[in-house]
Amino acid sequence: MAKKYKSLRGIRDISGAEAAGFNEIISKASELLEKYGYERIFLPVIEYTNLFARSIGEDTDIVSKEMYSFKDKKGRDISLRPEGTAGAVRSLIQADQLSGKIRRKIYYFGPMFRYERPQKGRYRQFYQLGCEVYSFPSPYHDAEIIEIADKLLKLCRVKDYSLGINSLGCAEDRSSYKKAVKKKLEGKVEKLCPDCRRRLKTNTLRVLDCKNSRCREIYQELPGMDDFLCDDCGDYIEKLRQILDSRGVKYSIDSGLVRGLDYYNGPVFEFKVNDSAVIAGGRYNKLVRELGGPDMPACGWGLGMERLVAAANLEPASQKKAALIKVEGGRIETCRRIADNLRNKGISVSEGYEDISTGKKFKITDKNRIVKVVIIGGEEEKNKTVTLRDMETGKQESVPADDVESLARKILAKKILARKTDV
Ligand code: ATP
Ligand code: MG
Repeated sequence: MAKKYKSLRGIRDISGAEAAGFNEIISKASELLEKYGYERIFLPVIEYTNLFARSIGEDTDIVSKEMYSFKDKKGRDISLRPEGTAGAVRSLIQADQLSGKIRRKIYYFGPMFRYERPQKGRYRQFYQLGCEVYSFPSPYHDAEIIEIADKLLKLCRVKDYSLGINSLGCAEDRSSYKKAVKKKLEGKVEKLCPDCRRRLKTNTLRVLDCKNSRCREIYQELPGMDDFLCDDCGDYIEKLRQILDSRGVKYSIDSGLVRGLDYYNGPVFEFKVNDSAVIAGGRYNKLVRELGGPDMPACGWGLGMERLVAAANLEPASQKKAALIKVEGGRIETCRRIADNLRNKGISVSEGYEDISTGKKFKITDKNRIVKVVIIGGEEEKNKTVTLRDMETGKQESVPADDVESLARKILAKKILARKTDV
C-alpha cells in the first residue's frame, strides 16, 4: 500500500526498544530525583516567543535560527519550546512559588523543538528530562544536581562518559574575559565564519560555542575563563570541586565550555559520550529576575533522551515479560487465573484470547520480544500444570499450575534448563 502520509523531517516516532528505554529511564530518573526531594511538573510545549528571546538570548543559535515560531489565529507571536527552563521559571513566577526564602526543586520531561539539521542524535523534535533547584547559591546545590546526573548515568550503565566543568564567572568577570577574547582575535576576524564575526560584536562569548571547525581551531589559542575569575567566583568553583571530589564524582576542567544559552553564569557542565553532550547544565542566578520574578538564584540540567537511550545499557524489559497462550483443551478461566497470579508477582503478562494456531501465536511473541511463554492446553489442564517455553533456546518444562512462586522464579531466571519437547 502506498504510504500517503509521512512524519515531518527530523521528527520521529519513538517505539519498540527505544520507547521501552524511554520508559525505563524516566522511571529510574524520577525515582532518583524524588529521593532527593524534586517534584515533577508538567509544562506547556507552547509559550509566547518573547519568553525564549528574553531568557535564552536573541543572539543564540536557538533563538536566532532554530525556533519553531509562528503567529496564532489572533496574530500573537508564539513558539514551540526549544528547552524547558524558560517555561519552568515562567510557571513558578506566575504561580508565586519563588517568593520568600523557600527552596523549590523540580523536574520535567517532554518534547522540545529546534529547527536544526537532522542527523544522528540531533532531531527537530527531541525529548528532554530536566531538573532545577531554586534556592540560595550554594555549591552544594550545583554538586547535588551533578551527582544526580552522574548516578543516573551509572544506573543506566552508560560506559565511557566524561564530565567537563567550567565557570563562566559573574558579569564583571565575563566582561574582562570578553575584552581579552576580542583583543586576542584582532587581526583574525577575516578568518572567522560570518556568524562569529557578528557574534564578536553582539555577544562575544557566543563565539566559543561555534561548531565551525576552522573557528574552533582559532579559539584553541584563546585564554581560559579561569584566569579571569574574581575571588568569589574562583572560591565558588573551587568549593564545588572539593565537594565533587569528596563525593567521588570524576570530572575535568574544560575552559572552553560556554553552553548554548545566554542565561548561565558561574559553574556550567557537560556529560559527554563520544564527544556528544548527553546531559548539560549549569547555574543561572539572574534568570528569575530577568523574567520578572524575585532575586532567586537557580541551577539545573537538561538530558537528551534519544542520546541517553543510545548510550545506555538497560536490562531488556523482555526479562520481566511473559506471554500466556491457550492451546486446544485449555480453559480460559485457568489462563486468566494464572495470568493474574503472575502479574501479582510483578511480571507483565500478555494473554492471547483469540483461538489461533500455536505457531502463529509464537510468531506474535517473537515480534513483541517475549522470551518466556506459558502454554495451557488439554494435557496441562488434566495434570494441573503449565508448560513453560523459553523462546530463545526452545526448551520447555512442566511446572505445577498453582505453584506461582516457582513459575515466577523460572520466568525471571535468565535461562530455563529442562528437557526439550516438541509442541
Ligand atoms: P548541542 O551542543 O549538542 O547542540 P545543546 O548545547 O544545544 O547541545 P542543550 O540546549 O543544553 O543542548 O540541551 C540539553 C541536552 O539536550 C543536550 O545535551 C543534548 O543531549 C540534547 N539535545 C539538544 N539538542 C538536541 C537535538 N536537536 N536533538 C536531540 N537532542 C538534543
Ligand atoms: Mg544545540
